[in-house]
Amino acid sequence: MALIHLERLWVENRLTAEGRVLHKKTDGAKSETRDGVRITRSLPVHSFKLGLFGVCDVVNFTPPAFEPQPATSLPKRIEHELNRLTRPIGVVTETSQLGQVKRDEDNSPFHQWTITPVEYKRGQPKKNDADRVQLCAQAMCLEEMLRTSIPRGELFYGKQQRRTEVVLSDELRQLTVRAAERLQLLMFAGVTPKATREPKCENCSLLPVCMPSPSQSVNASVYLRNLIEE
Ligand code: SF4
Repeated sequence: MALIHLERLWVENRLTAEGRVLHKKTDGAKSETRDGVRITRSLPVHSFKLGLFGVCDVVNFTPPAFEPQPATSLPKRIEHELNRLTRPIGVVTETSQLGQVKRDEDNSPFHQWTITPVEYKRGQPKKNDADRVQLCAQAMCLEEMLRTSIPRGELFYGKQQRRTEVVLSDELRQLTVRAAERLQLLMFAGVTPKATREPKCENCSLLPVCMPSPSQSVNASVYLRNLIEE
């Protein structure tokens, strides 16, 4: 993260290239309404609370009391709101004096809608929480922008070719808040932390420029076991 965002370094390898191709498929496709569900692609999102911004691969907007039906035009208010969201950030959400976003779910045009962010990944599910945290951060951004609640999202893995539902639990939300806080500290400090070599480094495109030092705390047998399990 620090190498990319602080030092502006990037190195491509087969894995990053495959990921880019997968994302191009969703980025290149247009938003559409299918069977009454609005499928929005490459939706810019942000959160003042988390201090984050980014782009959601796909967000599905399912109307209340949904029954599949032929594609029809969306209610005007929803259409307007979705158009507003796809404009560049900086004009989107109302904030209070403290920068805290007003949360008034009853007044949200998306009240009672089911909103589901879907994040596309090249490989297969990871052992760590990185993908779930990323998805949760997207959902929390959407909740803040739309003044609504999003209880679950979905992860699509290229190797499995199917979506996996992720429950956005309190625990995952706390993990996401802590990750966002750590990121803020990192960006404010402006210093790339010392990296320690781990099994995941073997597939990392940044390995040649990162040059992590050997782990001091992991002995050789544990390191080899991690390597095999990875
Ligand atoms: S080489 Fe390892 S420590 Fe360095 S950026 Fe990649 S995964 Fe992180």
